[in-house]
Amino acid sequence: MSKLDQIVDFLETEKTDVAVVSDPVTINYLTGFYSDPHERQLFLFVYTDHEPLLFVPALEVERATAVVDFQVLGYVDSENPWEKIKGAIAKPDAKTVALEFDNLILTKYHGLQTVFEKAQFTNLTPRINRMRLIKSADEIQKMLVAGQYADKAVHLGFDAISLDKTETDIVAEIDFGIKRLGQEMSFETMVLTGNNAANPHGIPGSNKLENDALLLFDLGCMVNGYASDMTRTVAVGKPDDFKKEIYHLTLEAQQAAISMIKPGVTAHEVDRAARSVIEKAGYGEYFNHRLGHGIGMDVHEFPSIMEGNDLVLEEGMCFSVEPGIYIPGKVGVRIEDCGHVTKDGFGLFTETSKDLLYFD
Ligand code: MN
Ligand code: MN
Repeated sequence: MSKLDQIVDFLETEKTDVAVVSDPVTINYLTGFYSDPHERQLFLFVYTDHEPLLFVPALEVERATAVVDFQVLGYVDSENPWEKIKGAIAKPDAKTVALEFDNLILTKYHGLQTVFEKAQFTNLTPRINRMRLIKSADEIQKMLVAGQYADKAVHLGFDAISLDKTETDIVAEIDFGIKRLGQEMSFETMVLTGNNAANPHGIPGSNKLENDALLLFDLGCMVNGYASDMTRTVAVGKPDDFKKEIYHLTLEAQQAAISMIKPGVTAHEVDRAARSVIEKAGYGEYFNHRLGHGIGMDVHEFPSIMEGNDLVLEEGMCFSVEPGIYIPGKVGVRIEDCGHVTKDGFGLFTETSKDLLYFD
């Protein structure tokens, strides 16, 4: 069943007249057409008994028509988009309309209320999340390609390591290198040296790389609409034994989690596997975030790999495994790979070595 057919199936089962998709990423997921409309209006209307309608700013009509095989309607800036939608949609008298509650801002919601004056609005978000949770073979192939670019990106970072450079110097070299390969980063590249790496959401700055310290890279690329996300922590100079111990403990925690991932195991159990390694060593309080997050067309999506989440893993789920130990003022380590649940294990999207690598 195509992804759009799955929405039609949802409408039939839920006895809902219309689905209105408003999140540009969901529209891309369902149709292959991506556009960021900024403050303009972009909607996909799906019905059970009429062909869908893609409503776009006029300047996007040509590009949209080339991608989708159903009706595309544009509006120019001087037109009232809500009146234009009302005049064009198949079911202005709809009684039930499913909207993406997690995406819709109030202005658009009010606009849609003027379009569907008689409708009750229900939430489409859980269904979309459920669909996006299980990736198809084609999506997994795209995630692998995005992962290969993350591997390239982290190696660009390794090649740039030099004690006379700042964190942002190295960020710039990574981002420039990926841009030259025709791709984009999927979020702000993080390069954190020494104590700055002890902050799980530290911001790269103008401080020069520390010698005899650890250096953390957290980065990802967005390729064909799919994201990657990986973290490597490496040694610059000769870090002391304590730093190396924390590194190897983090790696052991990551491997403990990865080795138990397969269909039937819960998200809670995977988090627990990594966390108990770190707790047993006495550093539990310094691993202060969940083990991982789902990834796909967004860098963060479902499922959340955390304590208390009884979600049972299924083949096709994609998520990160990223334990970290952050001891303020001393050391910060995180090791992260994303992968997909296979028939009997977990296939990683990134391959860069996790031996503690040394640079000077
Ligand atoms: Mn991540
Ligand atoms: Mn990351």
